[in-house]
Amino acid sequence: MAKSYGFDTLQIHAGARPDPATGARQVPIYQTTAYVFRDSDHAAALFNLQEVGYIYSRLTNPTVAALAERIATLEGGQGAVCCSSGHAAQIMALFPLMGPGCNIVVSTRLYGGTVTQFSQTIKRFGWSATFVDTDDLAAVEAAVDDKTRAIFCESIANPGGYVTDIPALAAVADKVGVPLIVDNTSATPWLCRPIEMGATLVVHSTTKYLTGNGTVTGGAIVDSGKFDWSKSGKFPSLSEPEPAYHGLKFHETFGPLAYTFHSIAIGLRDLGMTMNPQGAHYTLLGIETLSLRMERHVANAKKVAEWLENDPRVDYVTYAGLPSSPYYERAQTLYPRGAGALFTFAVKGGYEACVKLVNSLDLFSHVANLGDTRSLIIHSASTTHRQLSPEQQKAAGAAPNVVRVSIGIEDADDIIADLDQALAKATA
Ligand SMILES: *Cc1c(COP(=O)(O)O)cnc(C)c1O
Repeated sequence: MAKSYGFDTLQIHAGARPDPATGARQVPIYQTTAYVFRDSDHAAALFNLQEVGYIYSRLTNPTVAALAERIATLEGGQGAVCCSSGHAAQIMALFPLMGPGCNIVVSTRLYGGTVTQFSQTIKRFGWSATFVDTDDLAAVEAAVDDKTRAIFCESIANPGGYVTDIPALAAVADKVGVPLIVDNTSATPWLCRPIEMGATLVVHSTTKYLTGNGTVTGGAIVDSGKFDWSKSGKFPSLSEPEPAYHGLKFHETFGPLAYTFHSIAIGLRDLGMTMNPQGAHYTLLGIETLSLRMERHVANAKKVAEWLENDPRVDYVTYAGLPSSPYYERAQTLYPRGAGALFTFAVKGGYEACVKLVNSLDLFSHVANLGDTRSLIIHSASTTHRQLSPEQQKAAGAAPNVVRVSIGIEDADDIIADLDQALAKATA
């Protein structure tokens, strides 16, 4: 697909071509586990990675491959791999870089599930994470040691109205010689293209805006193809002979596609966190309208945030699209199309008022999800963060008096009217 096409064209056409067997215009759902080899030589060439082709759907599948190519194109990357969920994508993203004893330096402002994955679960692999405030670039650099293999952040961090200065963080990563990994789930490539700002890898929960309608879980990793994996000796899985592949050196053999090929040939083969073709189909359909949806998500979020900020029943709103946000200027410069559609607001009346608000809404859905066409709300302190102390809740941007909303693409007036009637009941 010509790189000169605009985003709206690429979101529909990248990765898709008329089916060679039938001419089907939409990408078929290749619901198959295995693929017939032409003969034994063909099979051998495929297994030796001397020829690219389909072997078995744990590794590659044409429907999933179309989605990977589309996401890689929209992010401006060399290649991409799809996975069964966003959390699978994060483990898969780290897998080629890490070994026992290695660590990552990560932002304190991350999706709650990612905090748990990085602070607890990865320890079982002998990996660890050091959490730092990524606005303090000196602290980021100081946290990096000779066992650090990546810096990790989110472009627009969920939920506190925070946007990351990716170019500044990429400069630190460059200086210390490790890749910068950006979770671009909340922004999507329509609002932010981390690779253009210096990121090495981009990860996604395709469950959210890319699919856009709350139907399937999925994830993706996009590689910029720009990192020199052989330079420092820190990334032997990519630069040294691979014992599980007859001594093949991925970087030497595949150049800018080394990371992508490793993620398929070793990562998917041995970890098995594969996306299924049905899931890829739903996400391909969703991406066709990504820019249209994001434009409306952002416009609605701005209207709703402004309305809430001017309402006497609301204490404050944290949204980087409002001039009152400490991140407003940064968002204007780095994310000129908008600061996303996720934010939190504090209700006068605290915990009880928040619970009443959530119970009184009609249009909003009370769910632990984001990035749906529907408007969603959650009171983190009484749900996802209820095991934490009030102090810990506050630090996580989930204080008892705060609710998080993911603004949908319904009529903005209907969203506001629903909040209005529920705020009246909550603060009566
Ligand atoms: C949802 C989410 C994830 C995890 O993705 P799943 O598809 O639920 O596994 C990771 N990062 C962010 C920013 C998310 O919103």
